[in-house]
Amino acid sequence: MVTRFAPSPTGFLHLGGARTALFNWLFAKANGGKFLLRIEDTDRVRSTQPAIDAIIDGMRWLGLDWDGDVVMQFAGADRHAQVAHEMVAKGHAYRCYMTNDEIAAMRAEAQAAKKPLRIRSPWRDRPESDAPNLPHVVRLRAPQEGAVTIEDRVQGSVTVKNEEIDDLVLLRSDGTPTYMLAVVVDDHDMGVTHVIRGDDHLNNAFRQLPIYRAMGWPEPIYAHIPLIHGPDGAKLSKRHGAVGIEAYRDEMGILPEAFDNYLLRLGWGHGDDEIISREQAVEWFDLSGVGKSPSRFDLKKLENL
Ligand code: GLU
Repeated sequence: MVTRFAPSPTGFLHLGGARTALFNWLFAKANGGKFLLRIEDTDRVRSTQPAIDAIIDGMRWLGLDWDGDVVMQFAGADRHAQVAHEMVAKGHAYRCYMTNDEIAAMRAEAQAAKKPLRIRSPWRDRPESDAPNLPHVVRLRAPQEGAVTIEDRVQGSVTVKNEEIDDLVLLRSDGTPTYMLAVVVDDHDMGVTHVIRGDDHLNNAFRQLPIYRAMGWPEPIYAHIPLIHGPDGAKLSKRHGAVGIEAYRDEMGILPEAFDNYLLRLGWGHGDDEIISREQAVEWFDLSGVGKSPSRFDLKKLENL
């Protein structure tokens, strides 16, 4: 049993991220498994060192220790590219030489037909010998027929038709891996058995599974947790007091135990218990206790802790 927290260091460690980390940590501890930390820094423009420091600092403050070293995703870029090339060799991916103009035309066509853009490049079926000697991306040869069902531990059974999955990019034209490829390769290589994350990633799971299948890798168990909303029911934003978690520590003087308890009860419950110790949480935590609807964040409640 291995879980992980895999934040992108493009901003502060916010409430939603901290809760995802806590749930992964608790699930690993409750099952005698391992909890890993991977910093997903493949976006070289938006990833910053202060964000990495804030994540690590926040994890320490919350008492969420991880097993082994922190894994930096970009350091594995060669391995990710190797997997993409293997997929091309096996026919599960292809080199796509579409130009930006061709993609724009495809987008305009989709818009005119009021359909979402789902790229199926002509290079899916065109022989490599026709390829111009130009930069190209590597795309997944997404299955076109049938459907995929995920038995999600929180969302239940979710089915998406394969025709809705596009031939997503695995390697960019500069040879760097996309998030979609890197996350699968890393989760596989790190032995991750349970992927617990925000439900804004549920759609991605249907894009990631074809990569596992192409490589013949065991698929993880998914649990997509509903996002945290503000007291008005809208997606949490700065307006609701959603700031880096260090603000709760430094500006509001909240103790980590109280903050952990608050996070735990945002979307997970154990009867009417209001105060749950770390030990009790480890003993009781189970994904079946995670609610299906978004939880509401209330800054006032947190201020009263
Ligand atoms: N790096 C992604 C994010 O911060 C999460 C990826 C995942 O958990 O699979 O949103």
